[in-house]
This record gives sequence, structure tokens and C-alpha cells, in this order.
Amino acid sequence: MQMPHVQDRMQKLVSLAKRRGFIFPSSEIYGGIANTWDYGPLGVALKNNVKQLWWNRFVHGRNDMVGMDAAIFMNPRVWEASGHVANFADARVDCKKCKSRFRADHLVEEATGKSVEGKTAEDLTQIIGVERIVCPSCGAHEFTEARNFNLLFETSIGKVEKDKSIVYLRGETAQGMFVNFKNVQQAMRLRLPFGMGQIGKAFRNEITPGNFTFRTLEFEQMEIEYFISPRDDWGKIFALWEKEMAAWLADLGISKKNIRVREHAQEELSHYSKKTIDFEYAFPFGWKELYGLAYRTDFDLQNHMRESGEDLRYTDPDTQEKYVPHVVEPTFGVDRTILMLLLEAYVEIEGGRTTTTESVKEEEVVLRLDKRVAPVKVAVLPLSKKEPLAQKARELAQMLRGYLAVQYDETGSIGKRYRRQDEIGTPYCVTVDFDSLEDDKVTVRDRDTMAQERVAIEDTKNYFKENFGMFH
Ligand code: ATP
Repeated sequence: MQMPHVQDRMQKLVSLAKRRGFIFPSSEIYGGIANTWDYGPLGVALKNNVKQLWWNRFVHGRNDMVGMDAAIFMNPRVWEASGHVANFADARVDCKKCKSRFRADHLVEEATGKSVEGKTAEDLTQIIGVERIVCPSCGAHEFTEARNFNLLFETSIGKVEKDKSIVYLRGETAQGMFVNFKNVQQAMRLRLPFGMGQIGKAFRNEITPGNFTFRTLEFEQMEIEYFISPRDDWGKIFALWEKEMAAWLADLGISKKNIRVREHAQEELSHYSKKTIDFEYAFPFGWKELYGLAYRTDFDLQNHMRESGEDLRYTDPDTQEKYVPHVVEPTFGVDRTILMLLLEAYVEIEGGRTTTTESVKEEEVVLRLDKRVAPVKVAVLPLSKKEPLAQKARELAQMLRGYLAVQYDETGSIGKRYRRQDEIGTPYCVTVDFDSLEDDKVTVRDRDTMAQERVAIEDTKNYFKENFGMFH
């Protein structure tokens, strides 16, 4: 059971995300479409900042990594070779009475509180019968047998029926890197160990209980395939990546108490993995997978080599020995990162905070987002929209826009404008007041400390450069 205040927190976040332009239900004017969301102006900015930070850290920031951007469509044989056509499936059941559809493992886990990871569709059917599990929607105990449904989305290429051929929307970004292993290694003259990083969309035909953007049909992944020699100690490399992933979370400011690592039991492992751990986050709806780290062995390259007939072996430049590399795969969901960041940042301040010009008595919301990912870095607020004050503020905003994301806002009381910026996590508000006309200085307010500083307009660029470390 979810605690009421926990659901409340989630609902408040969903509502803030919509009201302030982070995330909207997709195609809302038509009633939306299940488990699909659109990122608005602030959402896309937040997402781009996270992706940029990740890329800088894991691709630009390392001598042993290169980037990649593969097409979403791939030759369908890729998905046969990878095992996804045969194995990438969830068991589902339908309620015969109200027609609701559920993932069988989720249904059992919710009802019994016990993990059923790795159970087959037949096992799940049996458990549902023995435990007399009822439909969460209508209370009936009349389910179909659990049946496996493949998660890959199918579509087709070709205009006329007889020329049509089935293609899949990729179920993970990883395969784009495996099939390009030889291209990338040779073009970039890379020596093992090295990794490829890629950010892109993946698609899965999932049934979901509707936890906002946690599980969607279309989502983004930031994935790394780290290629090693079969002679390397994979366990050591795995442990290094585990540390790297934990360091990324710490750098984002995620509290340690909200993160835990869980190793998959043998029967739970994916068809390609020898060892997998999940980084789990304490979402309001429970501990759930945030990221994964898997040792995929040489499973993918061996399969692609066999199915394509291409020699994907690596030749050791020193010994001329040829072998198929093994792979350690750290994978990060973009959308789950965004959801976690919003949840971590969301703070309600009872009784409000005192601002320069007025005391706010009601509850205030502050998004304490990391400065680097905040969608708006600086808000420029003229004390009044009268000229020449507004003109001076507009000029300052335009100047700063050359370096970072700026929002100019002249509508409403200054207190309201501060609160709007706090709600979207803007780290700095710059107020242009009547004194500014005389002394060419502005007041800069820090979102978290509420400290105010008078800064000369000509120094603002350097002031923010120092505070952000770099410009976005
Ligand atoms: P889950 O167990 O939650 O279904 P998974 O183990 O299938 O996830 P992976 O295949 O390891 O997930 O995918 C890598 C990452 O992609 C996950 O850690 C998660 O952050 C993200 N991800 C996977 N499926 C979805 C989805 N449907 N919606 C949003 N993000 C997803």
C-alpha cells in the first residue's frame, strides 16, 4: 500500500511538471495516449543538460571512450541474432471480467509482496490460482492464463503490401554499438579496453501501472558498451564501473539513503547476462530500478558474428592473437534520471520564505536542482516594467543569453516572480531596480542561500562564469 502523503508528493510533482512546462501528457487534447509523455520547454532543457553532463563525463572526459549515434531502424536480423525476437517478453494476463491487462509478475508481486523474478508464464498462472489473486480494478478472480508478449514494437518498410517487410523499433540502444564494433574500432584505431557511449531512444511495448514517466513506451537511454579482452579480469572492470555509476549519482547530489544496489539472482538474469546489478532509487511508489550494470560476456558479438558471417574478432596489435571481446554494460535511463532529479529537488517550505520586497506566508515550493542541470540558469527581473528600467533589464538578459539559459520576466509582483523561479529551480535571480539606473549594478539572489549581492552589470558575465564553472 502506498502511503497517502507519498502519492500526494507524486501528484504534486506531476502537477508542477505540467503547470510549469516540464512534462505534459502526450497528445493531451485527444485524451492522451497511455504511458507516453511530452517534454515541454523546461523539460527538454533539463534533459539536454543531463545528457550533456553525462556525455562530458563518460565520453569526452575519458581517454578510453568514444561516442556513437546509430539509427533507430536496424536490419531485423539484428534482433533475431541478439535474442530479442525470441526472448524479450513479459508474461501478461487479462481480467476476463473488466478486460484490464496486467503484467503477471507485477500483479503477483503487488498482491503477495514476494518477488517472482525469473518465474515462467506457467509458474505465474499457477501462483495466481493458488494465491487466489484478484483483479486490482474490479476485484474478480477470473484471469486468462499468463502468456508471453514480445516487447519489441513492429512496423514495416515498403509502400505496397507485397513489398512490405517487418522492421522493429529498437528495444535498446546497445545493439547499434555491437553491430558497429568493427567500424568504430578500425576507424578510430582503438585498442582494448575501450568503450562506446550512446544516447538515444528505445521503444518497448510495455504494460505499466502509470507511474508518470517511470515506465514508458518510448524512452531514452544513455548506454556504454565497454569492450574488454576475455583474458581481462571482468569482475574488476565491473566493480570499477559500479563505482563510476555511484560517483555519477553522488555528483548529481542524490542522497545516499535513496540509492541501493541489488544483484540479480541467477534465474532473474537476462538471456545475455552472467552478472547484473541494478541501481535502485527510492521512488515514492517503491524501490525501483534506476540504472543497470551487466556483464554481457561475448554473447552479442558472437551471435552477430555467427548470423552475419562477418569476422568481428579483434586482433591484438602486440601478439596478433585474435579473439571476440567481452562486454561490460553500464546503462542509464534518461527519463528515470529526470524523474529522480525532480523528486530529489522538490522541497516544500512551510510558511514560505522572506523575499526582498515582501513576506510570503503560504507554502512555497523550491526545486533545489543542481545548478548544472537547472533548465533556466538566471532570471532577469526588472523591479517595474516601466521604462527605462525594463529596457535596461532586457539588454542585460540579451547579453547573458549569449552564455547561458536566461528567462526574462516582468509580469506580476517581484515576490511572485521569485517564487515562479524557485518553483522551476532557477539558481539565480537578477533584479534590476531604480538604483541600477544610477549605479549600473544589479542585485543577484541565490536560490538556496537567499543571499543577495550587488554586482556591477559589466561583471555579471564573469560572476556567472565563476558560479557555473562553465557556460551552457
Ligand atoms: P525494468 O526491469 O524496469 O523493466 P529493464 O531491466 O528492462 O528495466 P534495461 O533493459 O536494463 O531495463 O534498460 C536500461 C535502463 O533503461 C533501465 O535501467 C531504465 O533506466 C531504462 N528503462 C528501461 N525500460 C524503460 C521504460 N519502459 N521506460 C523508461 N525507462 C526505461
